[in-house]
Amino acid sequence: MIGVITNPPEEAAIREFFELFKTPWEQYRSGLDYEVVICVGNAKLEGISARLLIIYAAEKTSFDEERQVQIQSRHNGLTCSFAEGHLPIFGRAVTFRHPGISFMANEDSHESIGFVDQYGAQIFARIGYDLPSEVNTLLTEGQPSVNGSTPTLDLHIANLRDLIVGCGIPLVEIPPLPDRFPFTVCLTHDVDHPSIRRHRLDHTIFGFLLRATAGSLINLARGRISLSKVMLNWSAAVRLPFVYIGLAKDFWNNFERYLEIDGDHPSTFYFIPFSDRAGDTPDGPAPRLRAARYDISHVSEKIPLLLSERCEVGLHGIDAWADTARGREEARRITEVSGVEELGVRTHWLFRKSDSMRLLDAAGFLYDSSVGYSDAVGFRAGTNQVFKPLDANRMLEVPLHIMDTALFYSARMDLSPAKAWVTLTPIFEGAARHGGVVTIDWHDRSIAPERLWEDFYVCLLKSLEQKGPWFATVTQVVGWFQRRRSAKFECAARQDGAMRVRVIVPRGSGLPPMRLRVYKPARDTQRTTFDTNPNYSFSDYCLDSDAETCLPLHREGLASCQ
Ligand SMILES: [Zn+2]
Repeated sequence: MIGVITNPPEEAAIREFFELFKTPWEQYRSGLDYEVVICVGNAKLEGISARLLIIYAAEKTSFDEERQVQIQSRHNGLTCSFAEGHLPIFGRAVTFRHPGISFMANEDSHESIGFVDQYGAQIFARIGYDLPSEVNTLLTEGQPSVNGSTPTLDLHIANLRDLIVGCGIPLVEIPPLPDRFPFTVCLTHDVDHPSIRRHRLDHTIFGFLLRATAGSLINLARGRISLSKVMLNWSAAVRLPFVYIGLAKDFWNNFERYLEIDGDHPSTFYFIPFSDRAGDTPDGPAPRLRAARYDISHVSEKIPLLLSERCEVGLHGIDAWADTARGREEARRITEVSGVEELGVRTHWLFRKSDSMRLLDAAGFLYDSSVGYSDAVGFRAGTNQVFKPLDANRMLEVPLHIMDTALFYSARMDLSPAKAWVTLTPIFEGAARHGGVVTIDWHDRSIAPERLWEDFYVCLLKSLEQKGPWFATVTQVVGWFQRRRSAKFECAARQDGAMRVRVIVPRGSGLPPMRLRVYKPARDTQRTTFDTNPNYSFSDYCLDSDAETCLPLHREGLASCQ
């Protein structure tokens, strides 16, 4: 059991951090024995009984005074390196001059930002940044896109786990991994342009004609597309008048094609509630071109088809991010047409402001899936995990990691397919290493002329299928993470020197079971110092109902617990 000492303003971030770590913890209660006590900031640390004491603070503390820990340098933002990789720190940080075992260093100066030492029988670790402040930054504004390939929040969890297990202390957790699956994938489609016929001589048509004709030739010259794709685009441009008079198929209407491509992997479609409504930006009225030329009623005949194929319908919000009343109005419109009562939302153009999550939560949305980059891919919130925004009561956030337009639009990343593939690699590596969900947004018209990004999407799906993830709709993923959040640990010391850990699990609802992971450090029993590269092993157990395991309170207890 971990006891955590924190100040009230930091509690929300720490609570969510441990909800994502999902290991037994509680607010520290004086007089109790703990295996690990974590102190965040400067606090009185007298009389603490713990094998391992961890102090996170980006300032000199009374503990530093007492143990003669010297601050070497102070920083505002830096990158540290440790066993799991590189970890950006966005707030204040300090480095140390101390003879302990350093496990984390400033990447530039190599000064220690985290070390372990021993004081009597107690091991202590001192880490020179402010954990709740870092968690708060990641879960609210997010990290800049230059750090997008780093799962920063997941690395904070990994760092703490390595530290605890590296000090020889066993650990139990419920990882963000469905049993038997290496991670989860959500396929989503923002429906912005389900009909080219609805556009007359507007900016969308001019853009289409320009990119399909001259743009295709330029992309051919750049080696970005093949001659056959140029021909497809030119032929689509020539067919356009026949689409308008009904003699040719509307090639932007692709619901059936997506059902074919996605196959057995039900996806989530986000629909615009009102046509010709541009809505607002964070700085005032949005430009006209943000307005869609369709609303969900124009494609209402497709909804029963999608639902019958186990796909999901959500709101592609216009102003829900800015105003609760408008959020309710937009949700009502989607419900009226689709019959779907409980909705999630992804905001058109991914707009948001500092209180958007609170407003969406108040409007009653089950989840939001807008925390991503529009001009980059990766981990805006630093995680593959579904999390609860710090100012939401119920709503969860399913972060968005990969968006087609960010990868390929010339004004955004403008990547060739080969470079796009390389760029996506860290996202899948992050999911394979830390679990969680990879959320992909492939727009409705992206498989049609003039984008023609179907082949890349199909390759992406095939590559993912080989990794064997759980393909789920966003609501299914939210249900799975809600169940994990509802699981409770009960810990009690046993007489044989072990800790009994009981997990209370809510009833399942047809979703894959969770798993219980037990880490048992594989080191000599008398060791009390820290292993910077912990060679620990873990065992996973299927977790679908209440379960019990036990952990040794002291290394000698290992045998009795195996
Ligand atoms: Zn959109």
